[in-house]
Amino acid sequence: MRYLLSEEELADERDVVTLRQLGREAAELLGLDRQDQVRLATALSEVGRDVLAGGGSTVLVEVVTEPAPGELLVTMTSRYELAPDGAVDAGGVPAARRLVDSVQVAAGPAGGSVVVLGKRLPVRGGWNRHTLDDVRGALSRPRKATADDELRIQNLELVRTLDELRTRSDELARANEELEETNRGVLAMYNQLSDELEETNTGVVALYAELDERSKQLAAANEAKTRFLRNVSHELRTPVNSILGLASLLAESALDDEQRVQVSYLEGSSRALLAMVNELLDLARAESGRQEVVLADVDLGPLSAELQGTLLPLARPGVALDVQVPPGTTLRTDRDLLARVLRNLLTNALKFTDSGHVRLTAAPDESGEHVVLRVEDTGLGIDAEHVERVFEEFYQVPNRLQPSVKGTGLGLPYARRTVEALGGDLALTSEPGRGSTFVVTLPVGSADGAPVHADQERLQPLLARVLVVDDDDAYRQVLRGLLGELAGSVVEASDGQQALERLRASTPTLVLMDVRMPVLNGDAVLAAMRRDPALEHVPVVLLSSAEPLRTDDLPGAVFVAKRDLARDALLDAAAAAGLSAGQA
Ligand code: ADP
Repeated sequence: MRYLLSEEELADERDVVTLRQLGREAAELLGLDRQDQVRLATALSEVGRDVLAGGGSTVLVEVVTEPAPGELLVTMTSRYELAPDGAVDAGGVPAARRLVDSVQVAAGPAGGSVVVLGKRLPVRGGWNRHTLDDVRGALSRPRKATADDELRIQNLELVRTLDELRTRSDELARANEELEETNRGVLAMYNQLSDELEETNTGVVALYAELDERSKQLAAANEAKTRFLRNVSHELRTPVNSILGLASLLAESALDDEQRVQVSYLEGSSRALLAMVNELLDLARAESGRQEVVLADVDLGPLSAELQGTLLPLARPGVALDVQVPPGTTLRTDRDLLARVLRNLLTNALKFTDSGHVRLTAAPDESGEHVVLRVEDTGLGIDAEHVERVFEEFYQVPNRLQPSVKGTGLGLPYARRTVEALGGDLALTSEPGRGSTFVVTLPVGSADGAPVHADQERLQPLLARVLVVDDDDAYRQVLRGLLGELAGSVVEASDGQQALERLRASTPTLVLMDVRMPVLNGDAVLAAMRRDPALEHVPVVLLSSAEPLRTDDLPGAVFVAKRDLARDALLDAAAAAGLSAGQA
């Protein structure tokens, strides 16, 4: 929708001056700023002059009210044709294009041209009829400006514009100065920072040099300590061994009771000394990295059972030694070294636990690349401040059980070194009053399931149905563990009477039986078996923690001391029993 503000004639030079005035006033009344007022006025006088040269015309000044916010349109129609749109490169039209938002030149009626200049109005909530009526009223006043008046106004505008330009350029100069200042500041800061950085770098380099020096000194001190340990312990072993030999010679000579007691003390002390010297030697070897590592596929089941068997006697009353190692947990490692580490950890756990349990578990980790062995106890626990220190040589934690137990403080440093030599690590977590957990993580290596030894395969018929007889639950667990996957089936009995019942219910291929049991002893069961034609030839391995029995007159029976019990010893005894019973 358009609203007509004014309609003028363009007939001579004076009309151009009036058109210029009209344009400036209209722009001012419609809210354009001063610069836009000058721009519009100049554009109108430039184009007006061209149109006048083209024969003059009428000029329409209109406002497009919709769509809001509106546009001021000035339409001039010349009688003769002006240069067509786009081809105009001289005169008023190109100048006007730089001053207003749009200039369109089109062919007009009767061979003339129509020029339309457009100027967008400021956003101001739209124009309504009333406000535009007011603008039209104001514009309709008569004008009688001369070219001189207009020139003065133009000069004034020029001066104002120049003033504004100067203000702007002053502002620009100030902004530039500020920028330069900021730049200088930034540069200064950068220089300071790089100076500081350089200084710090020099400091760090010096620190590293010092650290290097210190670690060289430390390594040298460590080397000296290891040499000392190795040489001294080596030198000590020979005389201690001589003392031991002499003490046992002395024990066999004619002595009175008191002398005998004194010699036994001598022997006990030298044994303790020898054990300590041996530990020192082990540690020195582990520290110097000269520990010989012999890798083999190791089945942790029987290994754990052996440890359980030999360490059970160390458990305090009321403390259970529990082993949870799933059958077939295998890895490639040094069996003897691993056994020593675990023996160390289990012995410690048993020493410092006076109620609850000590538990050994083993299982592959999530990745399947490691086996994680845990020795967990419900004992005294270790304060946080001592947790790392227990891995130092000779370090012992002061606690209420310490005075009553034997120890050198060398076991844990040895264990850690050895686990590291096996490619793993040893960690400790502990809660005082609740217990400790030592975690050994070892690589599985290229174990492909510990292969059953050829000799062991031959034993399989003998191990098809094994009867295990012992009144000690834990010991039955040990025997099961030692047999591991070699045994076909294992039946248990907890006393002699029960053993006879099980024997009569189903004949086993092998009997592993404790000697001393409530109700009926092992040797009595054996005698009953030998009288029974159905059981006469069943091979029997007798186990005892006491001195060996004479089994010569008991065909098919072989004796093993519990304290020597290891898998190989057990299997050898089973094979011997099988042979003498004519079964294997
Ligand atoms: P030690 O020969 O004294 O047992 P270790 O190096 O094996 O030497 O252990 C160092 C010390 O760490 C022990 O003396 C003991 O104080 C503490 N310790 C080790 N294991 C345990 C545990 N399971 N519970 C509580 N304390 C322990």
